[in-house]
Amino acid sequence: MKCHVIDALEIIGGQCSALYPEKPIYDIPAHPKILASELIEMLEAQAAPFHPVYHLNQRVEKFVKNADGSFLVTTSKGTQIECRAMIIAAGCGAFGPNRPPLSGLEEFEGKSIFYAVRNKAEFAGKNVVIAGGGDSAVDWALSLSEICKKVYVIHRRDKFRCAPESADQMKKLADAGKIELVIPYQLDGLEGSNGKLSSVIVKDFDGNSKKLEADYLLPFFGLAMELGPIANWGLNLDKHHIEVDVATMKTSEEGIYAIGDIAHYKNKLKLILSGFAEAATACHSAYKIVFPNQAYNFEYSTSKGVL
Ligand SMILES: Cc1cc2nc3c(=O)[nH]c(=O)nc-3n(C[C@H](O)[C@H](O)[C@H](O)COP(=O)(O)OP(=O)(O)OC[C@H]3O[C@@H](n4cnc5c(N)ncnc54)[C@H](O)[C@@H]3O)c2cc1C
Repeated sequence: MKCHVIDALEIIGGQCSALYPEKPIYDIPAHPKILASELIEMLEAQAAPFHPVYHLNQRVEKFVKNADGSFLVTTSKGTQIECRAMIIAAGCGAFGPNRPPLSGLEEFEGKSIFYAVRNKAEFAGKNVVIAGGGDSAVDWALSLSEICKKVYVIHRRDKFRCAPESADQMKKLADAGKIELVIPYQLDGLEGSNGKLSSVIVKDFDGNSKKLEADYLLPFFGLAMELGPIANWGLNLDKHHIEVDVATMKTSEEGIYAIGDIAHYKNKLKLILSGFAEAATACHSAYKIVFPNQAYNFEYSTSKGVL
């Protein structure tokens, strides 16, 4: 089968590339520890012999089903692809970060304010303010405390919603003066010019303000999930997810499959590992639709080779 891959992001790799490229993943089979960005590089290399065609920086907006059962898919850039089967691996949909409601925010975004860390080295020797109380905020506070001049963690509660071991480790680093916990406070303002931040203003619930000297602000307030156009495709939806038959990964529409985080069935685990297995199941099911008149012979890669 030939394959076209369309993604709204300008890079491949979904959440791994966009949200946590420099975080190690510990539960990919045969990789005791692998950076998310490395996993994506290796997946790209593994897919390369099959010549997938990537159409990046464009969102799938709509599709029509032709009389012969094939589909015509149209993207936001006007790219049109005709195919016999579609596999939707849209994660949480077109996702974006929850942005703090601060005036002048846009001026600093992408320059001094980031919602994901793409290059940890950029923060070496700098003053970094991290806002949020979940795993991303705490994990990055631990990681960046190794290289930054100063790391502040702003959170509006004194309890963190993260792995308890990480919270304990952060407390130890705070006691040792490597991290400054600013709690219970929330973001209140930004100072700086031409996209370069000089300080972040925070306020407690009694209205007392503090000014923190800052080169960078990293707000980790989670993701805004927006299914986008997929919600209007007439598929069987359960909130932000597409209901599938786990035996085939088929949606309610013949020829359309869903895999990964967006696919829902009983006892679904939202893990990369599950996504891999679901992709294999979907491809095996799709083969019969793409080549209806060809018998399908299951073969191991060890027997068949790559091409
Ligand atoms: C901080 C963090 C840590 C994690 N750690 C682990 C871990 O240790 N182990 C693990 O197994 N899992 C982990 N996960 C979960 C894992 O990243 C997800 O399960 C996985 O990324 C799901 O892959 P996916 O391909 O289904 O969706 P995604 O990775 O979300 O990719 C979906 C892609 O679809 C695109 N898209 C959406 N709608 C459209 C459209 N209409 N047109 C074009 N493109 C569209 C999006 O732009 C996105 O690039 C972690 C997640 C996070 C956030």
